[in-house]
Amino acid sequence: MSRHFLLSAAARRLSVREVLGMSDAQAFERFRAMRWGREGEAVCPACGVAEQPWFLPSRRQWRGRACGHTVSVTSGRMFAHRKLPLQVYLGAIAIYSTAAKGLSALQRSRDRDVQYKRAFVMMHKIRERLMVPRDATAPSGEVQRDGASTNGSVRPENRADERVDRRLAENQNPDQRCVLVMRETHPADDPLGRVGGKRTLTVIIGRENQTDVGAPAARFIAPGATLSADASDAYDLRHGRYARRRVNHQHADRAADGTTDKQAEAYFSRFRRMQIGQHHTFGVSRPARYANEAAYREDTRRGSNGAIFDDILAKCARTRPHRDRCGDRQGNTARPELLAA
Ligand SMILES: [Zn+2]
Repeated sequence: MSRHFLLSAAARRLSVREVLGMSDAQAFERFRAMRWGREGEAVCPACGVAEQPWFLPSRRQWRGRACGHTVSVTSGRMFAHRKLPLQVYLGAIAIYSTAAKGLSALQRSRDRDVQYKRAFVMMHKIRERLMVPRDATAPSGEVQRDGASTNGSVRPENRADERVDRRLAENQNPDQRCVLVMRETHPADDPLGRVGGKRTLTVIIGRENQTDVGAPAARFIAPGATLSADASDAYDLRHGRYARRRVNHQHADRAADGTTDKQAEAYFSRFRRMQIGQHHTFGVSRPARYANEAAYREDTRRGSNGAIFDDILAKCARTRPHRDRCGDRQGNTARPELLAA
């Protein structure tokens, strides 16, 4: 049996200890390079005038030549209005990058001796950045689909005569959601010899039925793709836009013609381990972020921790925070999110 990728030296390209030990100047340089690249800032970050702003070395800030505004390396981005040194944010991203099964805010709060609320907000800021689409093209070729419910458990009453039938709709948890995964796989004749899942899209739907499952497929998957799934009738197709392959797990894991939904199930393997081992529950306002985080970790499973760190840091350093998501600590909970891609 071949060795697991995470055991190889190629998986280790980042030392969390080095990141945590960075000086102020090193942390600043790392952020600056991630935000603007090695060439520096060609335009004023405050007003957009194409004129290199003055750099104020003692403050590590810039001042626009035309507008006179002062901006820092995090202004207008994910960690704007930060209260802690840059190393703290770099350290958070470094530890998060290496957590293959996710990282709970409680653990982070104890690791770094910060309040739970602060750790929770920082983790969610990173998760929110991961929601930025990793690839704008529609999945094509073979796409495997599967669903799994979350927030669905109802604790049975202690006494047997007080227990209800938890299969009935009226006795189910109203917070129950279904995570639907649509996973494009590498083609059998991939020129680089890659196998398994290529790209993973997740969507939060109400129930695993034809209506809820069918709509995201029509919206996201390229016409002409082959959709593989298990035998559940939720995955029946009501139009001829896609080719269809099914495997009945009562008879075999992999059908005689080679049809399988193993890659979709592999996604849920990681998702469930994240849930059971780290988060326990995903709540109702942010399940899309957790589902997408598991998808991100699946898609980057063969990347070194250094590459993942650089990718997440670039996302945090470059993109603006979404207005809906500002003020998490002030009680502005995000609107229910339905989509993650
Ligand atoms: Zn300016």
